[in-house]
Amino acid sequence: MGCNWTIQCLYWLPSYFLSVGSKSCDNICNLNIEPNQMSSVSLQLFINNEWQDAVSKRSFPTINPATGEVICQVAEADKADVDKAVKAAREAFRFGSPWRRMDASDRGLLLSRLADAIERDTAYLAELETLDNGKPYAVSYSVDVPMVVKCLRYYAGWADKWEGKTIPIDGDFFCYTRHEPIGVCGQIIPWNFPLLMQAWKLGPALATGNTVVMKVAEQTPLTALYVASLIKEVGFPPGVVNILPGMGPSAGSAITSHMDVDKVAFTGSTEVGHLIQQASGSSNLKKVTLELGGKSPNIIMSDANMAEAVEQSHFALFFNQGQCCCAGSRTYVQDTIYDEFMERSVERAKSRVVGDPFNMKTEHPLTSTGKRSGKREGAKLMCGGGVAADRGYFIQPTIFGDVQDGMTIAREEIFGPVMQILKFKTLEEVVERANDTKYGLAAAVFTKDIDKAHYISSGLRAGTVWINCYDVFGAQAPFGGYKYSGNGRELGEYGLDNYTEVKTVTIKVPQKNS
Ligand code: NAP
Ligand code: MG
Repeated sequence: MGCNWTIQCLYWLPSYFLSVGSKSCDNICNLNIEPNQMSSVSLQLFINNEWQDAVSKRSFPTINPATGEVICQVAEADKADVDKAVKAAREAFRFGSPWRRMDASDRGLLLSRLADAIERDTAYLAELETLDNGKPYAVSYSVDVPMVVKCLRYYAGWADKWEGKTIPIDGDFFCYTRHEPIGVCGQIIPWNFPLLMQAWKLGPALATGNTVVMKVAEQTPLTALYVASLIKEVGFPPGVVNILPGMGPSAGSAITSHMDVDKVAFTGSTEVGHLIQQASGSSNLKKVTLELGGKSPNIIMSDANMAEAVEQSHFALFFNQGQCCCAGSRTYVQDTIYDEFMERSVERAKSRVVGDPFNMKTEHPLTSTGKRSGKREGAKLMCGGGVAADRGYFIQPTIFGDVQDGMTIAREEIFGPVMQILKFKTLEEVVERANDTKYGLAAAVFTKDIDKAHYISSGLRAGTVWINCYDVFGAQAPFGGYKYSGNGRELGEYGLDNYTEVKTVTIKVPQKNS
């Protein structure tokens, strides 16, 4: 079955270029490519609503991580292409341009139409996402794409509701604020949720009237390019959104150091987050928001519902094969239930279905080639630890027990299916240990005692705390990190701040008798 899905997907890949109807699309379709020759296709950059080769004419292969095979070639943007895209985005942002003159309600309508087009093409996008990223098709179809649609619809609604204030300043003046777009926004996203990260970035930026130059992750460029074709289809003016596949050190840093980019929004590793902050500081002080890594504590109190705590903790770590920024990667279990929790967690991890992402029963493929193992340093390997297939990038679901706070696997992000279980005695102790990390993205508590839940959640230094659940996301609820996990909040009303300048307008109001 997997093979057929893959072939179908390969076969359909050029069809979206047909639907766009641009010159390059015709070129690709004229090649009359057979599915098994797809690897020779080269997809292009999306600049100013046109498909363009990279100035350098370079391209790079994108790989199906389930098989290790090349899917197709993709144009590789670098500084020269970033310059072109920024120019297009600047022109689209010019005062008086169609985008700037557009009613806010019409901007909302365009976003809403984009959501409709994505929903219409759910099956296609889910297949493309799975092919390029390796995540289970069942998840791409039922989680990633629907969340994208909801996110865009949510921000479509904000477009004409992001209101300023009237302010009672002293004297005979009328003072009000306007919420204005920042301008040309560079957006750089990772490979773990390619479509969703794209939506989290585009939704608030476009609702507030900015223009965008987006660099997508080199591992997963395909769905972003397909969404580009939908952006054109639904009628966004040229230059409002530009999508550039390319490499971080070239295309990415050309964006972050660009003198005509007003803002950069980045999701990725803390390491690259540092570079981006520095690039802003040494160029034009562009505004920077960062969504970075984590080492999130997941605390299981002895009074928790054991079955739910085991299942949710499994999900907290193994969802998306552990490749989540907010993965519950430090599972703190109270000593009196530690043994039972461990036994049941190992049983659950061993039952995880590893295999072809296009098989509907598969829970567990893996994208990353880079971070395959945690270091041991004396922790006890309870299950897994090996490579799970003879081809592709699979690793077995792995659990380490007896993990100590100082071990590398308890301090550094692994970004793979490796669960660390630690033991604790008291509530005060666990809050302190949970906070003993440079990160602060997310945390969770499992307990039936509401007092303990509130005590712990108010003590935790993290941007999100889940109680008796994990990875519950809504487009309405903000998400982001304390400490090294970043700055700014995405999603919800707070997410609009990332893309807004506040202008204070003060008008003299002469009094009648003066
Ligand atoms: P990464 O290496 O930091 O890459 C993220 C993006 O930055 C990619 O597009 C990458 O390009 C680009 N990049 C790399 N070097 C750059 C540079 N010098 N200047 C500008 N851009 C550059 O992260 P990753 O390993 O792909 O993604 C996993 C990380 O993202 C994890 O740490 C995870 O926790 C974090 N993450 C955070 C959130 C959140 O919301 N907080 C969500 C998802 C993931 P290439 O594609 O060429 O590498
Ligand atoms: Mg790929």
